[in-house]
Amino acid sequence: MLLENSQPEPYRIKMVEPIRLIDREQRQARLAAAGYNVFRLEADDVYIDLMTDSGTTAMSANQWAGIMTGDESYAGSRSFTKLTQAVRDMLGFEYVLPTHQGRPAEHFLFRTLVRPGQVVPFNAPFDSTEAHVSIAGGTAISCVAEIGYQPSVEHPFKGDVDVQKLRNVIEGEGRDNVPLIMVSLTNNAGGGQPVSMANLRAVKALADEFAIPVYFDAARCAENAYFIQQRESGYANRSVAEILKEQFSYAEGCTFSCKKDALVNIGGLLATRSRALYEQVVPLLVLHEGFVTYGGMAGRDLEALAIGLREMVDDRYLQHRVGQVERLGDTLLAGGVPILRPTGGHAVYVDAAAFLPHVPRSEFPAEALASELYLEGGVRAVGLGSLAFLKEEPSTGAVSAPRLELLRLAIPRRVYTDSHLAAVAVALIRVYQRRDAIRGMRIVSAPPMLKHFTAVLAPIEVRDEAVAECREVMV
Ligand SMILES: *Cc1c(COP(=O)(O)O)cnc(C)c1O
Repeated sequence: MLLENSQPEPYRIKMVEPIRLIDREQRQARLAAAGYNVFRLEADDVYIDLMTDSGTTAMSANQWAGIMTGDESYAGSRSFTKLTQAVRDMLGFEYVLPTHQGRPAEHFLFRTLVRPGQVVPFNAPFDSTEAHVSIAGGTAISCVAEIGYQPSVEHPFKGDVDVQKLRNVIEGEGRDNVPLIMVSLTNNAGGGQPVSMANLRAVKALADEFAIPVYFDAARCAENAYFIQQRESGYANRSVAEILKEQFSYAEGCTFSCKKDALVNIGGLLATRSRALYEQVVPLLVLHEGFVTYGGMAGRDLEALAIGLREMVDDRYLQHRVGQVERLGDTLLAGGVPILRPTGGHAVYVDAAAFLPHVPRSEFPAEALASELYLEGGVRAVGLGSLAFLKEEPSTGAVSAPRLELLRLAIPRRVYTDSHLAAVAVALIRVYQRRDAIRGMRIVSAPPMLKHFTAVLAPIEVRDEAVAECREVMV
């Protein structure tokens, strides 16, 4: 499907970076040395790296030209003026505060608006976003529509806010305890699922009723606009650029991790229409990131970002990109691999619990699958399941697993062709065909928090005596 339905990339390749597939014995040795945790591998030992779509973009010839012409002046840099103009033209926000990536923008927004004890409703917060709400003393509350929790059900806008739930939160907490409402475009925490324009309009109408500002987490705002063009009635004949602008008309401002849709390797923004917020954040920006006209970025990075913000809405680029993710999903499904439906904008999520039903959640099916995929094809993907999200109740010691056990194949922008992804699909389908022989993992050592980044794991050698006997017979 990847190759039969393949669309030619809407660009040609001007610069190449060699990659290599080390042989299977070497992969086995590197994986063992990395403690069966793909985060601990050397990137040079990875053939196709689908760990993240963050900061992994290939920049365009124009952006590279911008790197050379970027203005490194400490104050009043020409590159900052271009960036401000790009934000005004593309997103429609007057005030632009540059930051080195998305999370400082979150820090400044929540620190300025949120008081201890307040709540911030979201469709669903990204993990760093939720952490910044907490550090400000607040609590993030997910109000994503119930359909967002049903992985096998097809629905065009699984990232939508449940407006009734949102109203209940505002009325239950009281308007004065809700300093802002935040919507993630697309919903990364829910598999890169989009939010419809009708929903953004409804959220804005409700927010206006209570005079609460709405902010967007804009990391994947262009992919969201593309989904609206493709799926929502009334938008088929409008350009992504127009749709993007309409989306942002329903927000007072946004935080933006530009390492995603804005096609740069580093960079972030806090943008707003509110002069009051801007003036409150300026001193924080100077304290934590640098002068107001560069934030944490070099002038050349501001320049590349100003260009990336204009390139990200190219309809043909988005059609290829989102189509590529979908083609990978369809190819895997045709090979029997269980994935979350429909595929989102930036990644395919494999249902690791359904893939390895014989491996209990306590034996980390997502990590077992990540190891096998690396062994099979030198492909790196990330486990997002019980190792990453196991919650331990401190008072009782009781543990609870997250609702889903997933392996995420995130697709970097403009980096891999469909034939690379066909190799990924072949490897994962081979793993699927020998799934019955795949064993779970145990923890050899792990830190108390954020275990999945650094844990050392080992395959469980013998599941039980029956398996052991069976092996003896076979030998
Ligand atoms: C990546 C991301 C962030 C955080 O941005 P960084 O640039 O990694 O600091 C916030 N929200 C979403 C939805 C993201 O995907």
